[in-house]
Amino acid sequence: MACIAFYPGSFDPLTFGHLDIIERAARLADTLVIGVGRHHDKRGTFTVEERVAMLEIEVAGLNQQDGIDIRVVTFDNLAVAAARQNEADVIIRGLRDAGDFDYEMQMAGMNAGLDQDIETVFLAASPKVRHIAASLVRQIAAMGGDVTPFVPQHVSERLRAKQD
Ligand code: ADP
Repeated sequence: MACIAFYPGSFDPLTFGHLDIIERAARLADTLVIGVGRHHDKRGTFTVEERVAMLEIEVAGLNQQDGIDIRVVTFDNLAVAAARQNEADVIIRGLRDAGDFDYEMQMAGMNAGLDQDIETVFLAASPKVRHIAASLVRQIAAMGGDVTPFVPQHVSERLRAKQD
């Protein structure tokens, strides 16, 4: 049976940490659906449309590679409900540290309570990107710092344009 994986997140903005998870998850699953959360109570630096556009640029490159099939969607409901709508078998989440672990374990437990058929699969952050957090990238950019070690070039350009 073909495996469809759903990777939900804020992606505000897309970082090399997210990209590492995307590349690895796309090799594990037959299809990877990236879900950009549209949450009304959470106003971000980038609009959902801008976040999707940044993801689409990277996904276009990855989809050229053999055996990789990635789509980007938005969702405004529960991640587990969005996973089901996209016919996913698993939800992918990245684990960086103990903070992620505690939060993600709780989320995985709640999601399993909501839908027993969908498994949460955790990918351990790769050492080279483990320190990267979108929230810190936003803070560094807001203070005029260089974020090019943490995000693709087109993302850092968009961040710089936001500060002007
Ligand atoms: P959320 O608001 O849902 O936490 P994020 O966009 O911050 O959304 O993160 C989405 C997912 O990507 C989460 O599972 C998070 O742990 C994972 N992630 C973020 N940064 C990294 C990183 N540097 N390495 C591995 N996983 C990461």
